[in-house]
Amino acid sequence: MESSDSNVDIEDLQRRFLECPVCFNLFNNNDRHPRVLPCLHSYCYVCLQQLIQESQFNCPLCKSDFYVNNINVDLFPKDNTRRDLLDFVRAGGDTSVIQCEECRNDRAISRCKDCHKFICRTCCTAHETMQTFHGHSVFGLDDFQLSMDQVPKFRHSLMCKKHPKYELNFFCDGPECQKPICLTCCLCFHTNRPENNQNHITREIEAVYHEKVEKMQNKKVKINKTEQELVVLSKNINEQIDKLALNNENITQEIEAIFGVAADMLQRRKDALIATAEKLKTDKETLLIKQEIEVKSSISTIRDACTFIDQTIASENQPAFILLSETISDRLGYLQDTHYDKQPRDSNLILFSKTNLGADFQRFVDSVGNISSSVAYGPNTKLTYPLEIEKGKEFEMMIEFFNYDNGQIEDEMTVTAIFFETPESSLTSIGELSFSHRGNGKYQTSSIITDTSITKLTKMIVQTNSEDFYTVDLEIAVSKGLEEDYAKDLIY
Ligand SMILES: [Zn+2]
Ligand SMILES: [Zn+2]
Ligand SMILES: [Zn+2]
Ligand SMILES: [Zn+2]
Ligand SMILES: [Zn+2]
Ligand SMILES: [Zn+2]
Repeated sequence: MESSDSNVDIEDLQRRFLECPVCFNLFNNNDRHPRVLPCLHSYCYVCLQQLIQESQFNCPLCKSDFYVNNINVDLFPKDNTRRDLLDFVRAGGDTSVIQCEECRNDRAISRCKDCHKFICRTCCTAHETMQTFHGHSVFGLDDFQLSMDQVPKFRHSLMCKKHPKYELNFFCDGPECQKPICLTCCLCFHTNRPENNQNHITREIEAVYHEKVEKMQNKKVKINKTEQELVVLSKNINEQIDKLALNNENITQEIEAIFGVAADMLQRRKDALIATAEKLKTDKETLLIKQEIEVKSSISTIRDACTFIDQTIASENQPAFILLSETISDRLGYLQDTHYDKQPRDSNLILFSKTNLGADFQRFVDSVGNISSSVAYGPNTKLTYPLEIEKGKEFEMMIEFFNYDNGQIEDEMTVTAIFFETPESSLTSIGELSFSHRGNGKYQTSSIITDTSITKLTKMIVQTNSEDFYTVDLEIAVSKGLEEDYAKDLIY
């Protein structure tokens, strides 16, 4: 019977508070009663005994390390609120399986707040008629609303171990007691009699309860604030992770684009070189082929002349030969005087000089573009600055960046700082300084303040790679001192 207006998730409640996370048994008030570790995780007594075999042990849920003296499980407090919660959950579930806890003869239909028991119809009637139960508050399970404000109806009272008839209705606030006690304990052991030998302060438990709840609530408010800050941080971290992916994607695209263009340039240069070589080859080839044709023609002419001579001599016709001999001789003389090339008019030389290629080109390519970032962590920034600056006199400032675990920063960044003054109520920017890299995350600057209206520096925003990185509150007084001295110097 889950009511719609309540936010009670029985299964969740049961899993988180009512069963042992090791054996999954429901907690009870006997061997499987819940004990709470300092990390606020609870285990049943049986499991905890098995868990603590050595004085050093780990919480199975959160792995926290604990040390326990003499392997004594009883040093961890028992959580009695679980009994109340368990009965609350039982009343909110299937009530037909709940037995009367008074007579154990019938199924329970009601609950008595004073007996801390589920009771049957018969016992209910007994409550109405018998004097023993006079004043007991009984409510039916049928119209029970499952809502967290109903849990107090299931509160069990805690009885004194020494005096089982008495509830723990008092508290001893003595420095060595600090525990709930019963009335008898109050009167016998926690009074400041000589034989009790201790400083006892007995108080009503209710006042102590409200006091402790209030203190706890105040602490909870504080830790809730911390939690909220961590939620914001977690969101911020996730934003960083998302932006990181986006950044990387953009950079990859940019690199692809730029290198695409660069690859085109290289391709064009390659094509131009090949074309130039090709043209050179064609020109040279044309020249050489033309020469070769001329040379072949010369060879042929000479061979024709020689063949003619051979033929005129062959018949041994003396007068005929003599009639031709002058013409032949002129021809040979002409051929002999003709100028012939002695060597090819061009060479095979086409030179590809690899200027800037090889090692140079490798160096150039390696220097193309640069991927950089900063692992500097704001809170670890160290700033060295003077507490007082004299106008007109040079002063120095040093910023040292570290990563989140105080490691040195290798990458170089551009570092600037904007300074602020707080005249009366408003914050005014009074200038910007650039810092020079001095290695290992150290940056230094030196400057002079000449503006006579500035009296102090109260804030500085450090920027790395043009982005706000860290804000530092300063307390630097700007004194006029030197100006007067300076003036005196000039007079002398
Ligand atoms: Zn267990
Ligand atoms: Zn734990
Ligand atoms: Zn009964
Ligand atoms: Zn009762
Ligand atoms: Zn007692
Ligand atoms: Zn005491």
